[in-house]
Amino acid sequence: MQKVAVIGLGRFGMALTRQLVASRVQVIAIDSDPELVDVAKELVDVAVELDSTDERALRSQGIDKVDALVVAIGENFEAALLTAVIAKKMEIPNIICRATTSFHAQIFRQIGADDVIQPEEETGRELGRRLSNPILEDLIDLGEGFALIEMHAPVAFRHKTLRELNLRAKFGVNLVAIRRPTGNTDATSGEPERRVIGVPQPDEVIHPNDVLMVIGSNADLAKLPRE
Ligand code: ATP
Repeated sequence: MQKVAVIGLGRFGMALTRQLVASRVQVIAIDSDPELVDVAKELVDVAVELDSTDERALRSQGIDKVDALVVAIGENFEAALLTAVIAKKMEIPNIICRATTSFHAQIFRQIGADDVIQPEEETGRELGRRLSNPILEDLIDLGEGFALIEMHAPVAFRHKTLRELNLRAKFGVNLVAIRRPTGNTDATSGEPERRVIGVPQPDEVIHPNDVLMVIGSNADLAKLPRE
């Protein structure tokens, strides 16, 4: 079982902890604030009050043995940086740091963080994308200018076969899968239940309520119809 240490249990760290627990990941939750540690104790087996800039205290809780460590401290950059340096020294295989500014992000990368996230910026960008492109359901950034998007079938694509649409030639993108409503409703989410057509064939016809999973460069994806 994956073991992850979450350092800093503010709104970000606590939301991360909840999600990891829901995904059956073993979490060691750490904060210097005893009240937050008490809240975390309701969620995880191990929640500890300690100062994460204290290497001995971290080691005493077995933090040096985790598979991944997330520095979720936001405002206190000095503490976040020291924690990341200690994690690096303990040779934790995957260190992820939360940065509040691009400059902090750069410093985390320089000291060897495996991943750096800037939640405020990323959420802002994501909202911008969704507002400017209402048919976009989801986007996974693949790096180097490529992405996998989930989009509602544009009006211009409906009732056409993939052969007719010829997306590769016309837009330079690949349709990799289609999520099509089954007509039933999912009991837990209340959302329409969908089945996945994993390898769509040239004669597949696009239905009006299909969600299309499309891969391509950001520039080519931006040329797809938006209504
Ligand atoms: P969020 O934006 O996630 O709600 P916040 O603004 O409440 O966070 P931050 O200052 O960003 O608070 O810090 C996040 C958490 O990290 C806090 O709960 C704080 O107690 C904890 N924290 C800060 N420094 C340390 C440290 N050295 N050791 C352990 N926990 C720390």
